[in-house]
Amino acid sequence: MERPSLYVVATPIGNLADITLRALDVLKRADVIAAEDTRFALRLLKHHGVNARLISLHEHNERDAAQKLLTLLAQGKSVALISDAGTPAISDPGALAVATVRNAGFTVVPVPGPNAAICALSAAGLAAPHFLFYGFLPQQGASRKRELEALKTLPYLLVFYEAPHRVVASVAAMNEVFGERTITIARELTKLFETIHNCRLGEAVAWFEADANQLKGEFVLLVEGAPAATAADEGESRRVLEVLLREMSLKQAVKLAVDLTGARKNDIYELALKIDKGA
Ligand code: SAM
Repeated sequence: MERPSLYVVATPIGNLADITLRALDVLKRADVIAAEDTRFALRLLKHHGVNARLISLHEHNERDAAQKLLTLLAQGKSVALISDAGTPAISDPGALAVATVRNAGFTVVPVPGPNAAICALSAAGLAAPHFLFYGFLPQQGASRKRELEALKTLPYLLVFYEAPHRVVASVAAMNEVFGERTITIARELTKLFETIHNCRLGEAVAWFEADANQLKGEFVLLVEGAPAATAADEGESRRVLEVLLREMSLKQAVKLAVDLTGARKNDIYELALKIDKGA
């Protein structure tokens, strides 16, 4: 083990056995483990017979905790960083601490392992060559919808994290914005009630409502991307509209753009409004 260094260590997302030999070795040998929730970390560490000095590093103290890491590293110590589940810094604290340590010239060593998004993708069986990891959508309805609108034309499989009390609202909003697409609901991965369910977005709310048990736990949602043609078409429509809007009213530009591109009037109108607002 190199000293001084910060090791960023991935830990299980449910099944405590999902930890690499290298991760265990690093956790056993580190002088200090910085954990998102020290009590939660103790469960994992005890299970694997790791005795460690723990400090806490979470969303609300990350700046101060990063300074503590610098002090430890300056004393020549090795530190392991873990979050509650999966890979630190992925929808979890860690990025700020890592940046602080790197900027101070210390070595940061990744120790890869579980990640809920990759776990879901590996078992979903979707032949998607590209995906976009989004993580958590905004909690508030209007901002969530705005974000979904921004993702609507991307021709990539979309990967979301979601909490149980928001999953139905999010899936309903996706159905409203994206329309006819498929979704894979990956729930409680690596745990007792692991479920991987594939359906149309329009069927997802009813699927949840049919069995309240499906609303419990943690979720990864994999949503089909826009057909490649949609993204290309929007690019073309935007180009046409931008030219027309420089010369005529919005109403006239929409009419001409529909004739020129053959796209749907509503889509062209919405796009014209966005361009008009500078978006
Ligand atoms: N750092 C983690 C990773 O590498 O995946 C993500 C942490 S984030 C705070 C927690 C979210 O990840 C959950 O709300 C859920 O969306 C997803 N997640 C974590 N564990 C999961 C599991 N076992 N099954 C399904 N989703 C999970």
